[in-house]
Amino acid sequence: MTQPHKQIRLANGMPHPVRKRFGQHFLHDQAVINRLIDAVHPKAGEHLLEIGPGRGALTEPLVTSGARLDCVEIDRDLAASLKDRYASSPLVNIHQQDILKFDVNSLIDNGDSGKSLRIIGNLPYNISTPVLFYLLRFSQLIRDMTFMLQLEVVQRLTAVCGDRNYGRLGLMVRYYCHTEHLFNVPSAAFSPRPKVSSAIVRLTPHQDLPLPVKNVGTLDQVLRTAFSQRRKTLRNSLKTLISEAKLQSLAIDYKKRPETLQLADFVAISDALDTGAKL
Ligand code: SAM
Repeated sequence: MTQPHKQIRLANGMPHPVRKRFGQHFLHDQAVINRLIDAVHPKAGEHLLEIGPGRGALTEPLVTSGARLDCVEIDRDLAASLKDRYASSPLVNIHQQDILKFDVNSLIDNGDSGKSLRIIGNLPYNISTPVLFYLLRFSQLIRDMTFMLQLEVVQRLTAVCGDRNYGRLGLMVRYYCHTEHLFNVPSAAFSPRPKVSSAIVRLTPHQDLPLPVKNVGTLDQVLRTAFSQRRKTLRNSLKTLISEAKLQSLAIDYKKRPETLQLADFVAISDALDTGAKL
């Protein structure tokens, strides 16, 4: 027998069936909401993008700040309810769309300059990694991103060399951004409660990339290959890409495991692959 959907109430009192496929866990703990909004500290004149506003727990305080606010929500019912609620707010725009198909460039107009967009979201955990990778494409437009994520993902984003959670996701995000684990959030803060622990992370795109690589696709391929077999030495895990001798010429010990290398080492390997010379 199929389980009935759990129901929650929207701001207008209408019942809403919680849609698991959209990772819907709605924040209801006002102390957590306040702490998250304080961390963002939105101000009039700023341009915000909220991903997955849901029933508006974060949206309402963001609107109150007086900032311009664009929201992208995939769920038709939730988007329609928010459109009604903010119909008379000229600074608020609700886009009923999948964030993974949303053209962030389309939000930028003459009033925006440089890295001006501030992104906020209690992200659907089932697609949080693709959303992070997708947003990195627009990092030149983004001032900062503050997200609720699964605690384990935040630990991967902030892991340093040698940590158990150090790997491709953290290194790719840190290629573009400074990352900060702000605070943890208990499951009881959501309805329905997620089965995993949660945390808030802030990602701040670098003004200038500290370690620019010749080809970011190659860097991603190197990281994917190295960390797909993280218990192997570099000699073994990277043998399809680069020789022992070439690693040695880059002053990288081929007997080491990938989690012992810094981002700069992976950039050096990637750039060596992009010289066009036989490796
Ligand atoms: N912001 C609300 C809150 O904190 O209570 C809801 C957070 S809930 C974890 C995630 C929200 O993202 C849901 O409203 C869900 O419908 C929406 N969502 C899921 N997948 C999405 C996608 N691909 N694009 C845009 N929104 C999405």
